[in-house]
Amino acid sequence: MSTGPLSKELFHASLNLIPGGVNSPVRSFRSVGGTPFFVERGKGARITDADGKNYVDYVMGYGPMILGHAHPDVLEKVQKTIEKGMAFGAPNGFELELAKLVTSAIPSIQKVRFVNSGTEATMSAIRLARAHTDRKKIVKFDGDYHGHGDSFLVEAGSGVATLGIPDSPGVLEEITKQTISLPYNNVEKIKECFEKYGKEIAAVIVEPVAGNMGVVPPDEGFLEALREICTEYDSLLIFDEVMTGFRVAFGGAQERYNVAPDITCLGKIVGGGMPVGAYGGKAEIMDKVAPAGPMYQAGTMSGNPVSMSAGIKTLKILKDEQQYQNLEYRSQYLVDELKKRSDTHNIPVTINRVGSMFTVFFTPDPVTNFADAKKSDTKRFAKYFHGMLERGVFIPPSQYEAWFVSTAHGEEDLHHTIHSHEQVMKEL
Ligand code: PLP
Repeated sequence: MSTGPLSKELFHASLNLIPGGVNSPVRSFRSVGGTPFFVERGKGARITDADGKNYVDYVMGYGPMILGHAHPDVLEKVQKTIEKGMAFGAPNGFELELAKLVTSAIPSIQKVRFVNSGTEATMSAIRLARAHTDRKKIVKFDGDYHGHGDSFLVEAGSGVATLGIPDSPGVLEEITKQTISLPYNNVEKIKECFEKYGKEIAAVIVEPVAGNMGVVPPDEGFLEALREICTEYDSLLIFDEVMTGFRVAFGGAQERYNVAPDITCLGKIVGGGMPVGAYGGKAEIMDKVAPAGPMYQAGTMSGNPVSMSAGIKTLKILKDEQQYQNLEYRSQYLVDELKKRSDTHNIPVTINRVGSMFTVFFTPDPVTNFADAKKSDTKRFAKYFHGMLERGVFIPPSQYEAWFVSTAHGEEDLHHTIHSHEQVMKEL
């Protein structure tokens, strides 16, 4: 397909040495066919592959690159830090500085622990919820993705949904038995579930804006209902804001929807493009974490100065309210134009958008949960994906992922995207 010879060569060599040729499944293009390109470099909203082809990028590292690739101020900060050494295994001032930024941006986080990925953040958060409540069960939602921790691989979204893997072998039934997965946006089911198991439920974990079944906003009242019921049953409410944190507002989805969880998980943007994760919440809960308390969790690379520095600079730039207004405006414009052109060519699509994350679902019907998302025409999506790729627009290679707009996406990038979309619509 549209991948050039050098990328193909690199991919075929990788297949011999790396499972499926990739270090994270969605990158393999499995569900859309063809072979993935290899990235050579990125700058702003554009990336260049090993064959020298340019793309307007909407994957943006799956979310962290909200300021665009290789932002000069972030690079400068990282370079300065790196010159002083890369890992010490002793506390550093950058950890404190980032902790201050995070806790002031997200008031429900009084104390925060930095880890190395979103997966680590969510795994630690449910361990903490279980330790705090002395209960076993957790509730999640079909199509939400919380990383690859054992407890979450039940009706999961993202790559799990893309590859059609319902549950993963290797995950013990004893563990998944403690996970209850319910339809997103369905308050009745949550109530029924709590009536039956309420006193056994340690936590409800939710993507407050779902991004891993494609973008699905919370219905009005959904997050409020979760807050209410968790309070009533003394269960903890965990917002997995790995994707939405600093994305849908500086203070994340909890700011945008004005609902405060007990624990928040972060990742992606908080590391400014470096590997990072974080979980935090009320001091009383966080003080259960070792060495303040008995719940064990640790990490050689946790609080790494280089990651902390990239996060600090990124958050300082994002603090300016104007950034979010610009992102909102550009994303709204892009989505409106894409929808208009799909309609003109009679290709039924539903586009869900919250801030600068959105998904073009190839279905005429509203998408409010995973079952709706799965009604999308994934064959048509695959054709669309390759049509866009050929024209130099890189969107996530799965119907069940979010596109990300960055502050670096300028008029030219948007117009190239809209024009390409129009051309592809004619071919579908
Ligand atoms: N939670 C959410 C909402 C995510 O979107 C992701 C990754 O996409 C994760 C958790 C896992 O994060 P990571 O891939 O850094 O382990």
